[in-house]
Amino acid sequence: MFIPTLREIPKDAEIASHQILIKGGYMKQHAAGIYSYLPLAYKVIKKIEQIVREELDKIGCSELLMPALQSKDLWVESKRWDAYGKELMRLKDRHDREFCLGPTHEEIITAITRDSINSYKKLPLALYQIQTKFRDEFRPRFGLMRGREFIMKDLYTFHATEEDLDQWYLAVRKAYIAILDRLGLTYRIVRANSGQIGGSSSEEFMILCDIGEDEIAYNEEGTFASNVEICKLNEGDPSPDGIGVIKHAKGIEAGHIFKLGTKYSEPMNLNFIDIDGKKKPVIMGCYGMGISRLLMAILEQSNKDFKVVWPKSVAPFLVHVIPMDKNGEIGYDIYMQLQAMGLEVLYDDRNETAGVKFNDADLIGTKYRIIVGRKAAEGFIEIKNMATLETAEWAISNLKNYSFV
Ligand code: ATP
Ligand code: MG
Repeated sequence: MFIPTLREIPKDAEIASHQILIKGGYMKQHAAGIYSYLPLAYKVIKKIEQIVREELDKIGCSELLMPALQSKDLWVESKRWDAYGKELMRLKDRHDREFCLGPTHEEIITAITRDSINSYKKLPLALYQIQTKFRDEFRPRFGLMRGREFIMKDLYTFHATEEDLDQWYLAVRKAYIAILDRLGLTYRIVRANSGQIGGSSSEEFMILCDIGEDEIAYNEEGTFASNVEICKLNEGDPSPDGIGVIKHAKGIEAGHIFKLGTKYSEPMNLNFIDIDGKKKPVIMGCYGMGISRLLMAILEQSNKDFKVVWPKSVAPFLVHVIPMDKNGEIGYDIYMQLQAMGLEVLYDDRNETAGVKFNDADLIGTKYRIIVGRKAAEGFIEIKNMATLETAEWAISNLKNYSFV
């Protein structure tokens, strides 16, 4: 496996999760805000994506994949070619026709659906994709937190009535809660500003974290939470809902859900014939989630002093076998046994010192570490639970009865 770990902490990485991703050989930077996900990070990304897919499919969404390259015409129709400003990555083809690299896909999804949603009988509809997005951020930083090329899940829903949008909005909100819970994150749902995407009401899912770029105002009773961007409440102020006082915390925006209404369907002529025979614009919702940003948010919450323990749901591996027996035969045998048990195992057969292997193991962050040491010849290994730091001396013959949970 290709895990190019470094000895030194990279100087340009300011936050722990970014330092770990570079030092631990998870990813490599190519330009500001542009990275390759190396095998270790890509394993985590795929697991996050899978959880997102499962929860969205469960509520009736279907997955599709739209082009990253989008023609200017559609963006002129939605009136965003100018409005989006410098964040939009623009380019020309060989015939001088103008394009952009999609920062979001409201234009494309509307163009796809307007040819086929002609009746209320075709509604509701919920379509999502997991795709690379491009935004020429003014200040790309903190690694995957604010990239210029990043992976996002974007979901769009289509409705005949406001009530139906409200119902779907709540269903997606629940799916987001299920996703973030499965990822083991601590977060809050806050009222938010609708920004470039537009629409009436929106909420953000904020991962609580000291390095977060957003400031959240909330009450401890859990009945009020808002992005300070829209509420301007100070610490100690009474909560607007009359319950308790305001506190502040920093957060990372992992997801944003919007009731768009007819902001895109009207200018782009996405209409349907309703049950009353009248032609009406389709009512829409849109729901983003930052997959690559989530990877980093999870890591930010699952490391302490450069020692990582990934939540099991997304860990690149569950068990890490470090052989220190002479020719590695016993270690290799244990690795094969664990594989046969259906576990995801990493076997460190590199010709490196124990110190190097342990340091790298701290960054790779498996929950269980097996050390095949001096007692291996007598039939015993050491199994360490890195979450609880409990160590067990375990008989190799009894390996299948250890509970890796
Ligand atoms: P931000 O306020 O952080 O710039 P945004 O409001 O522009 O976010 P949305 O357009 O709602 O973000 O995008 C949906 C999700 O995509 C966000 O919730 C976030 O998780 C992720 N995201 C947005 N911009 C970036 C970026 N530059 N790098 C990585 N992830 C991003
Ligand atoms: Mg933004």
